[in-house]
Amino acid sequence: MQPPFSIRVKFDLLKVGHCQHAECAALRGGSRRAIDFPALVGLIEHPHRGLMLYDTGYSRHFWDATRRVPECLYRLITPVQLPPEQELLAQLEERKISPGDIDTIFISHFHADHVAGLRDFPQARFIATQAERRFVEKKGRLGRLRRAYLRDLLPADLDARLTAAENTPQLSLPQSLHPFTKCHDLLGDTSMLGIDLPGHAASQLGLAFAVENEAAPIFLVGDACWKIEGLQQNRPPSRLAYALFHDGKSYDETFAHLRTLHLSSQAPTLIPSHCSTTWAQRGGTRHIHRD
Ligand SMILES: [Zn+2]
Repeated sequence: MQPPFSIRVKFDLLKVGHCQHAECAALRGGSRRAIDFPALVGLIEHPHRGLMLYDTGYSRHFWDATRRVPECLYRLITPVQLPPEQELLAQLEERKISPGDIDTIFISHFHADHVAGLRDFPQARFIATQAERRFVEKKGRLGRLRRAYLRDLLPADLDARLTAAENTPQLSLPQSLHPFTKCHDLLGDTSMLGIDLPGHAASQLGLAFAVENEAAPIFLVGDACWKIEGLQQNRPPSRLAYALFHDGKSYDETFAHLRTLHLSSQAPTLIPSHCSTTWAQRGGTRHIHRD
């Protein structure tokens, strides 16, 4: 078994649509000014396993899934922008990547803004937590909507193609990622480490990995924090936003762990799924392409 991070991958961050919320929703004490919440997607090229995604962001399936009552409330409350050039398939095509080239999609959690494009990848296998997958099925239609789940977005054969993170080998994390101590070795080669980030959803899977030409590993943290400044300044989301969270106490613990990690001398590069600051800093790279 190789030590974690001995395999390095290529990584690009993509923006696949966005919505807007008041700044104070993401940063406690912030203004009421509307700020962008980009839906960020990780495109990863593993030297042996090929192309992979972390989440899919929005897609045109989102409009279909929110056409009827009561699901239309979702898009009324959260107006979504998805210009054609930002659609995930369009961005992949621009890199000469076809949907069938995507080997694996890591799913942070099943909220609609993370899984809306799953149906566009009929050959990919999925890796997500079983706890989160079961939760979606346990809820009724209204219960799902209240928690931002839209079951129509999920492929009919999702479960047949799904590997549960809980069923992959468990590893101890290196000191540089403490206070997180355990992870799931999602591919079995210690390259892609799934880290539990409880609180925001029933379960949430972060993803840590080493990247070519970067000293610090990347740690994709999903919705465990919405703005990177929140960790720097110890400003979690507004109290109101906690009404949407699965478990506020667990969210606070996860947030505190991320803050400790962010401020440590060996900090990995933390990337929240909806952080416009992170997008401005490292969006638009083109390390991965087939042309
Ligand atoms: Zn989200």
